[in-house]
Amino acid sequence: MPAPALNEPALDLSPSPGDEAKATTCYMCACRCGIKVWLRDGSIRYLQGNAAHPVNKGVICAKGAAGIMQHYSPARLSRPLLRTGERGAGEFREIEWEEALRIATSWLAPIRERNPDELAFFTGRDQSQALTGWWAQQFGTLNYAAHGGFCSVNMAAGGLYTLGGSFWEFGEPDWEHTKYLMLWGVAEDHSSNPIKLGLGKLKERSAKIVAVNPVRPG
Ligand code: SF4
Repeated sequence: MPAPALNEPALDLSPSPGDEAKATTCYMCACRCGIKVWLRDGSIRYLQGNAAHPVNKGVICAKGAAGIMQHYSPARLSRPLLRTGERGAGEFREIEWEEALRIATSWLAPIRERNPDELAFFTGRDQSQALTGWWAQQFGTLNYAAHGGFCSVNMAAGGLYTLGGSFWEFGEPDWEHTKYLMLWGVAEDHSSNPIKLGLGKLKERSAKIVAVNPVRPG
């Protein structure tokens, strides 16, 4: 006897997350994984790993996927703020970009005129160091640096001298031939997609992986 027809609703198991997808790279850490940014009505709806990108091959980590929260965070500044009270009092008012740039120019133009090296320009790990470094070069100062000068650049230099290459601060392990990999004090926020993919390759070959770390990583 034939089985009775199930009265199941027709479900779309893979609905499109948006109207269109824009290909770009993730800026939530230094790895720059390829992502697709899905838009609906001009707003970001969903971030997806880009399978065609060589760094991550479609993988997106939780931090990368959370980039949408950073983009739409209500704490994000949308206009320049001018301090109106004493330093530390937390009193500001919003100003237009034109006013902000005029104020900044009044501070910086005399220095640039006199001696651009008098400007010591230091930025945090804002993932925009290509831009901030370029800006400092255009200004003309030699005295510019960023977080990377204390952290990743030193490690990258170590990787160049010891391993012959470096992918950011991660060194450049030989994923194809390594039999024994030691990770010394690798920060947890650096469990990046390219490194995870590399560790996966080692595990496939049953290579030994030893982590020396003050915390227990996953
Ligand atoms: S590892 Fe994660 S946070 Fe870093 S670039 Fe890739 S998706 Fe973004």
